[in-house]
Amino acid sequence: MARDPRFDVLFEPVRIGPVTAPNRFYQVPHCTGMGYRRPQSLAALREMKAEGGWGTVCTEYCSIHPSSDDEPFPSASLWDDEDIDWHALMVDKVHAHGALAGVELWHGGAGSANHYSREAPLGPTSMPAGVNDPVQTRAMDKADIRELKRWHVEAARRAQRAGFDIVYVYAAHWYLIRQFLLPSNQRSDEYGGTLENRARLLRELIIETKEAIGDTCAVAVRFSASTSGEDDDQDTEEPREMLELLSDLPDLWDITVHDYSYEMGTSRFVEEAGLEATMSWVKGVTDKPVVSVGRFTSPETMLRLVRQGVIDLIGAARPSIAGAFLPQIIAEGRDDEIRECIGCNICYTGDQTGTPIRCTQNPTMGEEWRKGWHPEQIPLKGSEARILIVGGGPAGLEAAMSLGKRGYDVTLAEARRELGGRVTLESALPGLAQWARVRDWRLNQIDKLPNVEFYRESVVDEEQILEFAPDRVVIATGAKWRRDGIGRWHETPIPGWDTPSVITPDDIMAGAIPTGPVVVFDDDHYYMGGVIAEALRRTGLDVTLATPANEVSTWTTHTEEQYRIQARILGLGIALETGTSLASVNEGSVILKSIHTGQTKKVEAANVVMTTSRLPQDALYYALADRVAIQRIGDCLAPGTIATAVYSGHRAAREMDAEVPIGVPFRRE
Ligand code: ADP
Ligand code: SF4
Repeated sequence: MARDPRFDVLFEPVRIGPVTAPNRFYQVPHCTGMGYRRPQSLAALREMKAEGGWGTVCTEYCSIHPSSDDEPFPSASLWDDEDIDWHALMVDKVHAHGALAGVELWHGGAGSANHYSREAPLGPTSMPAGVNDPVQTRAMDKADIRELKRWHVEAARRAQRAGFDIVYVYAAHWYLIRQFLLPSNQRSDEYGGTLENRARLLRELIIETKEAIGDTCAVAVRFSASTSGEDDDQDTEEPREMLELLSDLPDLWDITVHDYSYEMGTSRFVEEAGLEATMSWVKGVTDKPVVSVGRFTSPETMLRLVRQGVIDLIGAARPSIAGAFLPQIIAEGRDDEIRECIGCNICYTGDQTGTPIRCTQNPTMGEEWRKGWHPEQIPLKGSEARILIVGGGPAGLEAAMSLGKRGYDVTLAEARRELGGRVTLESALPGLAQWARVRDWRLNQIDKLPNVEFYRESVVDEEQILEFAPDRVVIATGAKWRRDGIGRWHETPIPGWDTPSVITPDDIMAGAIPTGPVVVFDDDHYYMGGVIAEALRRTGLDVTLATPANEVSTWTTHTEEQYRIQARILGLGIALETGTSLASVNEGSVILKSIHTGQTKKVEAANVVMTTSRLPQDALYYALADRVAIQRIGDCLAPGTIATAVYSGHRAAREMDAEVPIGVPFRRE
């Protein structure tokens, strides 16, 4: 199918200083949890974006000196010449597909605690460093500032030798250059105090970087369009003045906002193109090209923003992670096939936990080198086996789609009328609507495959499977929330768990409506407890959210959501009991118990929603385990995230009739 000529504008080249981006699709710098530790994995990951049509592909933040070390979060580095080769590896792979390669030179300043290098962190003044780490920076003197500029220029020269086309001066987020820009920088010398003084370091870095490498490389500046304020009402006054001061110095402005949880907000809190209101003024004060992000997956939105002169380049981190081939798919007019990011931020949890990136929508993300997985290609089938999949949740659908693409004859039986399993159910909860994209993209793909057949409203049992006699059976029957309260805190059933007032998130999602005050007991710590509490509160019920953790939904610190979730819970008037276990359930009430003091408290509760852990629905698997060729996948194998289920389904499909390494199942660096 030819693309709509309206979208041709997205494929126009854009001049950026001495280089030209072949199109407007620009993968902005984004972390991968790989950094300098996993260069081969990283090079293959970036190459895949270039192959998929991203006209510019950047690294993650790249440290210029050991005084900026972000361990345990893995950054890239250009500390000395030894670091050049592995960057060149990535650059060559990106260039091979005609894309530009960019590097985001970075000094963390007070943003890094330097756990690895043990260098004293640097800052414009002596201030707390790292993330609640018990260390402070040393205030930079003039000699330090000169040194910083030298490191930056030397790193830029190394970047040029590695072959990069775009080199960043990174003045955004909570890192060193921005620490100089902000009003909190009240140094008494010419680098602090007035706005001009605070902008001096950035100005000098841009000029010196351009002098050093500007003959062949574009110099980009990543800059925040705001200094404070709420979501759509951010304070842009100072950034505007500063940008006016520096307007045509760099070759490209890469614009962000002050609040990272908004910039990369999950779909639970932030819409597509969320930054527009804060940054749409930027092109009015510079003649240089502007790139910015906004979880863009709609070609219409991209087109509108370019046409309206808001941005020149479509910045993307997450849309390029879920949709490594998004530009190519738009180029070919297959817009309905865009693998749209769902805005869950599972990709960010890799960096946050110091592990390679993963993605809910794209199970091949991070596996390009170590497993040789390609997001758009999968080997043909290895046999004529007929395959029965039981369960149409994310695991079952991914397996059906991938096996179908391999050419197998696939039958999928699903108990419910609606496909999608937990994704269908959970996407009906507040804020999670976009998660349905996990189901919808797969159904759309399967629709194009003649060899995948669905049986809906078909509860499959042991006899039926034996009678159907497929060559292989894949059990993807999911998991159910436990009723007895066993989880991380309670290792044995909570006394009174079997009273009728105890329900689970599955009951709520199936339509159960509590009749009076509710206690949600969250010992799961990801999103479910908070979302259920929110859903119930929005029906007008009195809700108490109790959790043994010291904050709500504590794992969501990794998805950059925790503050927003806690703010929403408190804002809705949900009573919060942190550091609290559930001592017992009685008819009409519960006894909560402080995990710190042991003090108990009686709380009225017509219902208790146990959100603690899940039980795999694996009876069918065990009933047939030794009798037919059978395997289980997804939550039925081991309950986890939707990303885990999709990955599990994909892996099962890839490994069907394939040679799988014995022992370590992937290549290591
Ligand atoms: P996962 O996340 O592993 O994909 P889900 O819980 O989302 O798991 O999906 C499991 C799906 O399996 C659900 O849609 C459920 O209705 C379906 N299912 C469970 N048991 C059976 C069965 N015996 N026959 C058919 N479908 C089943
Ligand atoms: Fe989008 Fe989630 Fe994939 Fe990240 S993990 S790219 S947020 S779908």
